[in-house]
Amino acid sequence: MNLLIMGPPGAGKGTQAEVLTKELAIPHISTGDMFRAAVKEGTPLGKKAKEYMDRGELVPDEVVVGMVRERLSKPDCGKGFLLDGFPRTVAQAEALDQTLRELKMDLDAVINVAVPRERLMQRLTGRRVCRNCGANYNIWFNKPKEEGKCDQCGGELYQRSDDTETTVANRLDVYEAQTRPLIEYYEQRGLLKNINGDQEIKAVLADILRSLGR
Ligand SMILES: [Zn+2]
Repeated sequence: MNLLIMGPPGAGKGTQAEVLTKELAIPHISTGDMFRAAVKEGTPLGKKAKEYMDRGELVPDEVVVGMVRERLSKPDCGKGFLLDGFPRTVAQAEALDQTLRELKMDLDAVINVAVPRERLMQRLTGRRVCRNCGANYNIWFNKPKEEGKCDQCGGELYQRSDDTETTVANRLDVYEAQTRPLIEYYEQRGLLKNINGDQEIKAVLADILRSLGR
């Protein structure tokens, strides 16, 4: 199965991508990991991407699409793949369609993990991280035994600066504005599977599999 997964920050998309690719025995192609691998392998596109990243600039679409193409051409994608973190814009989605046509591949479904905004706000603003060991907590869903203190090492828990209410609200706004046209794009093609992400990890996975006819 050739799949794509989308979801706002805090929706648990990364976790679902992990369990889903294990379940379906297909590679998880996250753009971030793919970038690092291409840079490490020193492929021509990897080198090009590194130049932009070193300058702190956005990697242009043609380079990103080229890297996705390189990755999808590898033999392990023959039995399917799960793309994660790409495309981010309609232009990229169109470029992906073109690439897939050239590789004689088809997209089977686009999984959209949706969670109500209030829940995302809770999940993200409730996040606390241990200064000492990096363990993650949530003041609503995964409380430490003692407030402000890490269960594992006793270290001090803090809120990352991008988890504050204003920053989170802004991140969600940006995500929604960027993604709405993309969701419409895939909806029009009949590929979109809206999944309720506001459930236990296993229940979300079960819904995804059901939507794929598994
Ligand atoms: Zn700790």
